[in-house]
Amino acid sequence: MRKITEVIKVLFSTAGRKYPVFFVLKTVRMLINIAMPFIALFISPRIVDEIVGARDVGRLITLAALLIGGEAVCQLANDLCTNYINRYSNRLERYFSVLIGRHVMELDFQLTEDKEALEQIEKARTGMEWYSGGVDGISDQFFGFLGNLFKAAGFVTVLALHAPVLLAVMVVYTGLNALFVYKCNKIGIEAFAKLSKVNRLFGYFGWNIVDPRYGKDIRLYEARDMMLDSWKENTDRSNTHWKWQGDTCLPFNLSSDFLSLARSVFAYFYVALLAIRKIIGVGTFTQLIAAEGGLDGAIGGMVHNVTELIKRCSYAHEYVVFMDYPEALAKGTKPIEKKPHEIEFRHVSFAYPKTDRKVLDDVSIRIAPGEHLSIVGLNGAGKTTFIKLLCRLYDPTEGEILVDGTDIREYDYARYMEQFAPVFQDFKLFAFSLKENIAFSDEDADVTALADRVGLHDFVAKLEKGTDTSIFKFFDEEGVEPSGGEQQKIAIARALGKDAPVVILDEPTAALDPIAEYEIYKQFNTLVGGKSAFYISHRLSSCQFCDRIAVFSDGHIAEYGTHAELEKIDGGIYARMFEAQAKYYKE
Ligand code: ADP
Repeated sequence: MRKITEVIKVLFSTAGRKYPVFFVLKTVRMLINIAMPFIALFISPRIVDEIVGARDVGRLITLAALLIGGEAVCQLANDLCTNYINRYSNRLERYFSVLIGRHVMELDFQLTEDKEALEQIEKARTGMEWYSGGVDGISDQFFGFLGNLFKAAGFVTVLALHAPVLLAVMVVYTGLNALFVYKCNKIGIEAFAKLSKVNRLFGYFGWNIVDPRYGKDIRLYEARDMMLDSWKENTDRSNTHWKWQGDTCLPFNLSSDFLSLARSVFAYFYVALLAIRKIIGVGTFTQLIAAEGGLDGAIGGMVHNVTELIKRCSYAHEYVVFMDYPEALAKGTKPIEKKPHEIEFRHVSFAYPKTDRKVLDDVSIRIAPGEHLSIVGLNGAGKTTFIKLLCRLYDPTEGEILVDGTDIREYDYARYMEQFAPVFQDFKLFAFSLKENIAFSDEDADVTALADRVGLHDFVAKLEKGTDTSIFKFFDEEGVEPSGGEQQKIAIARALGKDAPVVILDEPTAALDPIAEYEIYKQFNTLVGGKSAFYISHRLSSCQFCDRIAVFSDGHIAEYGTHAELEKIDGGIYARMFEAQAKYYKE
């Protein structure tokens, strides 16, 4: 019950603020639906009585006209309402998927790497779509319930006046039937919980198989069979859940059908007996049979509405849970200015959530405003993690990070994020125009100049639509597929274009050809200017462009100093790495 009220409150208020007309239309349609059966219920018996009694043709025509005309008008109004409701229903579906998408983008980053949070996103998405039918599906059941309640009250009154015994039988029948339907729906909800994980895997395989970016690896590593096998395995698992649901529900469905048959037989015999004994007239006989059928329909409808509401709301409740998902990071309120900052890691240790291994262990370092720091070390040494902590994508497990002497957890989160312009190893370009990929919605950015600065001049010059050309061909036949190196340059241009005092380049030249790499290095200080810069690279020659070098090893800063200082350390990690690379080039 708590879930139903919560879902209805959240969904209806969100939808009502956006499209209030939707609820007006649903209310009008409900009132029409309540009126419809009562037109026949009260007019038909009078027609029957007229036929077997006075047979006044004029009165018969009037009654028939009222019956047919009334029902036709109601039907027309009902269809018109449905037509408009359907338009809003599509809009609402899209509106809620945008709300979910927006919330996913606003989630604390670490939740996007968290299995539970990912499952919650999937449950919210599927829960709000076909499982619950969204706001339209849930409000259908809600208004359906109200409508059926009013109809049932009308039919009960008619039966109570003429056939109270039949009413008592209906009450017992309804109770038993509700039990069967309830059991079936409970099974349905259990099946949904089991299916959620299968669906997430489905999504993964489904997308990867058709995603052209995986095309090369799939072909050259013969990953096709592995992908198809995994897909088949998940299809089988999904089918097993559906079959289990169907098989478990079958006995309850059959019992319900049998009970309904028994009720109908009793009703006809009982009401016919009343008519034969002349306790009621022929008109009332037809009215009672109609009222009995109507009450069965209305109560069945109510039971269906309630159980559907329970089921649908328990699916849609995943949306409510997701929209209220607890934040992973505490957020401060302190303002922070955009200016070169002094950055200090003080005894920082870190293990990824739900793991024990310290990826960073007691790291302390101070970086002066505007300083350029090169971070080197073997794969897995903790370099990227160090950057993730600085950008507050995660918080340290122990110790603190200070920016201008203040613990970064105290700063306003959004303002703090504005301080950084990173290019991560796994940066992503969007299927938008080149201009949008570099400057997003900043209309004033000089995209051409930024592209020139990172050596994209010739690339842009070749494009017919210049910086308005779409990246990738997802939505645009004339889009370009930039090479790995070109993509990296676009990402660097994007970082340089962001008005942020700290630039972070994580392996920024890995995909660049030696000449492009040399160009970026040569211009590095001009490119980054007076901003602070963190530069993760395996090519140690790049370190010479930085003020200091921190050598990470196994989660520690093993060596720290200028290139000249580190080069001299006999048997030092940096000296050995530098020597190895230099030798390789010389040879
Ligand atoms: P580097 O950048 O020096 O190559 P990383 O900082 O990326 O190293 O990774 C350091 C260690 O942390 C690695 O052993 C890696 O497997 C682990 N790691 C990285 N990201 C995660 C994550 N999201 N969850 C758990 N472990 C992770």
